[in-house]
Amino acid sequence: MNDFRTIIEPFRIKSVEPLRLSTREEREARLREVGFNLFGLHSADVLIDLLTDSGTGAMSAEQWAALQRGDESYAGSPSFFRFEAAVKNLFDFKHVIPTHQGRAAEKILFSVVGGRGKVVPSNTLFDTTRANVEASGATGVDLLYPAGRQPSVPHPFKGNLDVEALERLIGEHGRDQVPLVLVTVTNNSGGGQPVSLENLRAVRAVCDRHQIPLFLDGCRFAENAWFIRQREPGQAHRDVVDIVRDMASVADGMTMSAKKDGMANIGGGLALDDDAWALKCRNLLILTEGFPTYGGLAGRDLEAIAQGLSEIVQHDYLRYRVRSTEYLGEALQKLGVPIVVPIGGHAVYLDARALLPHLTPLQYPGQALAVAMYREGGVRSCEIGTVMFGLSPDGTEKPAAMDLVRLAIPRRTYTQSHMDFVIEVVERVAKQAKQLKGLRIVEQPPALRHFSARFAEL
Ligand SMILES: *Cc1c(COP(=O)(O)O)cnc(C)c1O
Repeated sequence: MNDFRTIIEPFRIKSVEPLRLSTREEREARLREVGFNLFGLHSADVLIDLLTDSGTGAMSAEQWAALQRGDESYAGSPSFFRFEAAVKNLFDFKHVIPTHQGRAAEKILFSVVGGRGKVVPSNTLFDTTRANVEASGATGVDLLYPAGRQPSVPHPFKGNLDVEALERLIGEHGRDQVPLVLVTVTNNSGGGQPVSLENLRAVRAVCDRHQIPLFLDGCRFAENAWFIRQREPGQAHRDVVDIVRDMASVADGMTMSAKKDGMANIGGGLALDDDAWALKCRNLLILTEGFPTYGGLAGRDLEAIAQGLSEIVQHDYLRYRVRSTEYLGEALQKLGVPIVVPIGGHAVYLDARALLPHLTPLQYPGQALAVAMYREGGVRSCEIGTVMFGLSPDGTEKPAAMDLVRLAIPRRTYTQSHMDFVIEVVERVAKQAKQLKGLRIVEQPPALRHFSARFAEL
C-alpha cells in the first residue's frame, strides 16, 4: 500500500488521553508566571508538546501486555533475559548491561575508559555524553563532516564523521590517548541527521589501523537504518534489521537510551565485547544502578524495552515515522518558513534567526519564536540556540552558531490532524514575524541556563 499519497498512522487508538484547550488569556498568564521559559510550564497547560521525543512516546498494546509479564526478581529475572535477547538480536555484543537511561550508561563507560588527558572523538557528542566524557577529565572532540554544519545545504548523510580529521586527531594525540571513537546515530544535536554504512566502515578502517575500539551512541539506530535503506546505494531492498546488524557489526560496543528508539518511557543500556571493560562497568553498575540483571530498571521496564525493540524495526512504522516528520517539515517549507534541511528523523528545526532577522542573537530569536508558538496555539517547542549555548563559563555571552527551534515529534503519539494544527500555528506566527518581540534575561543560573532562566519581553 506504498503507492497511496496519504501516509496513515499504522496503528489505531485504544486508550486516549484528553487534551485541554486553553484560552489565549490563560496562556498569556502562564507565560508571565514562568518568566517566558517553556520548561517551567505544567504540561497540562500545553496542547501539543513537542519539547522532546525522549520517553514521551506511546506504548503499544503488546508493550502494555509485556508489563504484566515483568518479573521483579532481584537476580536472574526472565525479564532480563528477554531484554538481553532482544538487544543481541539487533546488536550482537557479548555483554549487555541495562541502565536506567542513556546517560547512566555514558557515566559508567567513561568512568572506565575516560580520564585526564584522554580524547574522545565523535561525529557529534550529545550534551549528556559530552558532559560525562568531560566529567571523567577527558576531552570530547566533534569531527562532523563539513556539510553537517550548514543548515540550508542538503546532503543525504549529514551525520557522517570526517575520517580525515579523525586520522589527524589520532596522529596528534597518539592512539594511547584515544580510548574509543563514538559515532552518534542519528546525530541528534546536528538535526537528527543520519550516518551512512560507508562512513561507519571508513571510521572502522581508521580505528582498525590504530587499534582503537569503535562505539555507537545508538539512541536512534532504527531511524538511522531507515535513512540508509532510503538513501544509500544498494540498500533499498534490504530489511532494516539486517542494516542495523551491519551497523552493529562494525562496532565494538554501544551506549543507548531506550527512551528514543527503544520505544519505552524509561531505560537504557550499554553493550560491549571487551571482557575486562565489561567487568569494570558491571562493578560500577552495582555501585550506582543496581545488580547486573536489572541495572536501575524494574523487570516490567525491561519487558517494555524488549518488546519495543521488536516494534521499532518494522518497516511500516519507520516509513510512517520518517514520512510524518517530513510531512510537517515540507508543509512549513511551502509556507516559506526556513528550516534545517534535509528534514531529520525525529524533529523539524526552524531557523529562527532567518525568520526573525530584526532580532539580534542576544535578543534570543529562538526563544521569541518558541514563546510565540505557545502563545498562539499552546504548542511547546525547544529553543536550541543562544539561550542554550550562548553563556560561557566565565559569565560572558556570545551568539550560538545557529538560533533554532526544535519541534521534536513523540513516537506514535500525535496524529496528522495534530500536525496540521501545528502547521497552522507556525503559519500564524510567521505572519506576525516582524512584530515578534525579543527577550532579555532577568534571572539565570551559572550553567545550563535554558532550563530555569527567566525572561522579560523587550
Ligand atoms: C537522549 C540522548 C542521550 C541520553 O539519553 P538519556 O536517556 O536522556 O539519558 C544520549 N545520546 C543521544 C544521542 C540522545 O539523544
